[in-house]
Amino acid sequence: MILVMKSGATQEEIDKTAQQIKTWGHDVSISKGEYQVVIGIIGDKQDLAGKPLHTLPGVEKVLEVSAPYKKASREFHPEDTVIDVQGVKIGGGHKAIIAGPCSVDTYENLILVAKAVKEAGATMLRGGAFKPRTSPYSFQGKGEEGLKMLVEARKETGLPIVTELLSEKDIDLVYQYADVIQIGARNMQNFALLKEIGKLGKPVILKNGIASTVKEHLMSAEYVMSGGLNDVILALRGTRSYETAMRNTLDVGLVPYLQKLTHLPVIIDPSHSAGKREFVSALGYAGMAIGADGMIVEVHPCPSCALSDGDQALLPEDFDYLMKKISKLESWNQKEWKKEFGSMQSSQLLKG
Ligand code: PEP
Ligand code: MN
Repeated sequence: MILVMKSGATQEEIDKTAQQIKTWGHDVSISKGEYQVVIGIIGDKQDLAGKPLHTLPGVEKVLEVSAPYKKASREFHPEDTVIDVQGVKIGGGHKAIIAGPCSVDTYENLILVAKAVKEAGATMLRGGAFKPRTSPYSFQGKGEEGLKMLVEARKETGLPIVTELLSEKDIDLVYQYADVIQIGARNMQNFALLKEIGKLGKPVILKNGIASTVKEHLMSAEYVMSGGLNDVILALRGTRSYETAMRNTLDVGLVPYLQKLTHLPVIIDPSHSAGKREFVSALGYAGMAIGADGMIVEVHPCPSCALSDGDQALLPEDFDYLMKKISKLESWNQKEWKKEFGSMQSSQLLKG
């Protein structure tokens, strides 16, 4: 449920209304727009049956959130969520560029690439220490040793670190070191894991599943958010389709589509979409051009030495070139086009 406040509602009215809802046992999320404030009510609407919501101070109307995901929906929270990772912002016009190797291998390679991507303009460093590999005989990641190397690279460059959490059993370990927790495609519907990380305090990058729908992706974000965490970034890494030309099929149209449905930042992962170095930069450029809130991209100083995903790793100079191209872009901004687009309801969009 959401309470749309009158355009002139005072802070006192907002506080009083929020307080009253809390005394009825519900938490609230307050979203302050330029013209209007929306108070999202968290929890089961049945508990509020019969409560005089309409007559609370400053309330203009009471609406139900029509989407099956609540906290993740834009109806619940009309303003863009801006996530702050150690001073690096993402969302609401702030773009984050996360670059680094698929997996951490040697200290030398990691420091080399971390410095190179920082120099080129990356705002965060990625690197996997726990790898979800198709074969159990393939390199599985360096584990804690890899996490420690990432911390060294953070010390050297100041870049916050993004690393994948693969299993519930590694939560304590990964949370000791990471700034942002990556949940990969294979775990997008590991609901037990999603619930656990939603109770913890670090921002999460949630990739779409290998063959997931937009709705399933958003429902997974809702799982995380239902635990209390609001800092969720959605990453589009392509899905499996009938088309086998690329490793996965990236639908860049889903960037504005998701931005319509949710207030959460949406980033693209051109590396796992393309699967081949040759096409990674073009997809990255397209994703940023269509208005993604950022990008997560694999870069390695020696792709042929990489222990995973070498074929899709950009060389540092490729990344530098891509960054220069992106810096000249005037990205599409869905909000500027809101008048025409805003008449469509989220529920209609999901049916389509
Ligand atoms: C990765 O980022 O290296 C990775 C394994 O990604 P995904 O979960 O998208 O396959
Ligand atoms: Mn990878």
